[in-house]
Amino acid sequence: MGMKKEFWNPWHGCHKCSPGCLHCYVYYLDGLREVDASVVRKSKSNFRLPLKRDRKGNFKIEPGSEVATCFTSDFFLPEADAWRSEAWEVIRQRPDVTFLICTKRIERFLDCIPKDWGMGYENVILAVTCENQVKCEERLPILLSIPAKCKYVFVAPILEYVDLKPFFHIGGIDRVSVGGESYQDARLCDFAWVSKIYEDCKNCGVAFDFHQTGSNFLFQGKRYRISHFQEYSQAKKAMQYLKEMSKN
Ligand code: SF4
Repeated sequence: MGMKKEFWNPWHGCHKCSPGCLHCYVYYLDGLREVDASVVRKSKSNFRLPLKRDRKGNFKIEPGSEVATCFTSDFFLPEADAWRSEAWEVIRQRPDVTFLICTKRIERFLDCIPKDWGMGYENVILAVTCENQVKCEERLPILLSIPAKCKYVFVAPILEYVDLKPFFHIGGIDRVSVGGESYQDARLCDFAWVSKIYEDCKNCGVAFDFHQTGSNFLFQGKRYRISHFQEYSQAKKAMQYLKEMSKN
């Protein structure tokens, strides 16, 4: 059985800061509920979610889970400076789960870490999102220069092929995860870009996954509109096809 995936959003809301933010799903989904996503709010009920227990006294988030942290905001937003040390405290109290922290603001990282961070907490994966080559060049040197036990790169929403090989040669990237953009205005995700990044990862021994196709997907020269709920299964199918083809 795979690792259980959970979500923890200790705060919600964000500011657009990058080309990848143009059709941010937080803005889109909040817009449907007439909520202003640009107002950053601390969660009232779930700020300490990883420490919540059920009636039997067991943690609601099971040991061994991977917790996607702050996926409706950015963990390193300046607005969250006052709340972050308490969030780090929650993370310290759950060494039995892995927290995946994914940011577009990696330049703020060293100003935001707790004093005992050292070479990184064992239970934190630090991930940077880079949607195009320019953002890779900006953010990855910072990611590679800072201490963390495990580092991922999310190429999402992918806007073009990105050449990660120079960063692989420096070393320190544990996984690359690629995904397309969701919902009605989604920009194109060309599977040719995804395949090329997959080949680069394979050749350099870096783990790879294609987590979602996005809603506007170009596959073998044909454009597909994919419903949000099928993006994950279609990405899996596309990867199966690619792996089969590369065997022949
Ligand atoms: S950083 Fe992420 S959450 Fe924030 S606006 Fe950009 S895409 Fe949305």
